[in-house]
Amino acid sequence: MPKSTDDLFSHDFKDRPFWWDRSPLDNPDPAPLPKNVDVLIIGSGYTGLCAALQTARGGKSTLVIDANEPGWGCSSRNGGQISTGIKPDFDALAKDHGSHTAFEAHREGLRAISSIGDFIQEEGIDCDYRVCGRFYGAHSPRHFEKLKRKINAQQKGLEVDAQLVQREDQREEISSDFYHGGIVQTQFASVDPAAYHRGVLGKVREAGVIVEGFTEALGVLKRSKGAGFDIQTSRGAVHAAEVVVATNGYTSRLTPWLHRRVFSIGSYMIATEDLGDDVARSLIPRDRMVVDSRRIVVYFRLSPDGRRIIFGGRVSLNETDPRISAPRLHRHMTAIFPQLRTAKISHSWMGFVGWTFQHMPHIGRHDGIWYSMGYCGSGVALSTYFGTRLGQQIMGQEAGRTVLSDLPFRTRPGYYGNPWFLSASVGWYGFLDRLGI
Ligand SMILES: Cc1cc2nc3c(=O)[nH]c(=O)nc-3n(C[C@H](O)[C@H](O)[C@H](O)COP(=O)(O)OP(=O)(O)OC[C@H]3O[C@@H](n4cnc5c(N)ncnc54)[C@H](O)[C@@H]3O)c2cc1C
Repeated sequence: MPKSTDDLFSHDFKDRPFWWDRSPLDNPDPAPLPKNVDVLIIGSGYTGLCAALQTARGGKSTLVIDANEPGWGCSSRNGGQISTGIKPDFDALAKDHGSHTAFEAHREGLRAISSIGDFIQEEGIDCDYRVCGRFYGAHSPRHFEKLKRKINAQQKGLEVDAQLVQREDQREEISSDFYHGGIVQTQFASVDPAAYHRGVLGKVREAGVIVEGFTEALGVLKRSKGAGFDIQTSRGAVHAAEVVVATNGYTSRLTPWLHRRVFSIGSYMIATEDLGDDVARSLIPRDRMVVDSRRIVVYFRLSPDGRRIIFGGRVSLNETDPRISAPRLHRHMTAIFPQLRTAKISHSWMGFVGWTFQHMPHIGRHDGIWYSMGYCGSGVALSTYFGTRLGQQIMGQEAGRTVLSDLPFRTRPGYYGNPWFLSASVGWYGFLDRLGI
């Protein structure tokens, strides 16, 4: 057992994403910014790049800018778990928006998961994409019963292939007795997120898009009479006919209307050191993605080479430093896998996911500015899918239509972009999780 938290870190520890070892962020020498473009996209994650691919291939001159290196945000930091991602269940959505909208919104989630696989295959992106299935562990007997009821009463037309796993059979999925059984969702998949981003970035550049890192948008000014926008950046001004905001969890006062509607929540990850040929594989023998039923969820998986565990979650009421979150995540990990108590941490990092008050992503246009954001922690498939839809909408294509554009994007009275309620919510949900309810 390591003697102090410092002993938990490997000698080559890095406080940056594990994924960047294989796919370092790439920022070629800056080129002069064009003075005029058809489309300017702020944010170079999956959303921005997928929208850019559509507009550039449709013949529009397209510039993508990012305040940091291209891909610096969540799109190169995430867990690489590919799921449907629509959080509210059918009944909750139907209550708010009617059953037709609820049905179509969930259909969009299902389309998102299948279309990312098709996209990766069609574009030939090398990113360890695998339809490996996901084990969803019940953290209490009560949650196991809930899961059982849920998969037996799936909405017709929205079924996902889900197999119940009794606690006594659980070790076939995960070498742990932590959970009270669970389900396996076989359609869910995995990817190396930074390799995926790098692959999409290559396609975008091939399509003629200019992608400029270290170019922060500082102001967006609408010209009168539909004459487009003047965007002030840290490297000069650009005029664009269309502007897209693809900043998700990094949305700021640059766009006050969006800042009041999407808030940032830190999610934290660690990677273990290389555990050798068999140790990690023996813990998740079928190489599934894993999440659990806690409200303050943890999520984990094998690294693509099967030699490490990549483990994520939220471990503090307020945002913290990756060196502080690492030992806490290690404790969560060893509660599930006591076998890993001597395993060291080689990487620790965090990123900001974009959350909304409706727990739903939103895509649309406000005051002439296009946006897609608020994937609520499940954005790998959704940002690819809705980024693409957004690009198609800009091109005026019918294919871009989505029922999510019809959902009202609500804020709360008195909320101006400071999520003061977050630490209280994390504390309360953590309390409920400990009670198993
Ligand atoms: C630790 C972690 C784990 C996650 N795990 C999963 C997972 O396993 N599965 C899953 O589906 N989802 C996961 N997610 C969520 C997923 O990664 C995101 O939903 C998705 O990547 C969002 O992509 P995006 O393009 O919308 O935003 P991002 O990739 O975050 O890109 C936004 C970009 O906007 C830039 N920006 C902001 N303001 C400006 C400005 N003024 N000027 C210029 N640029 C600006 C930022 O620098 C940033 O690069 C995870 C997220 C985190 C943080």
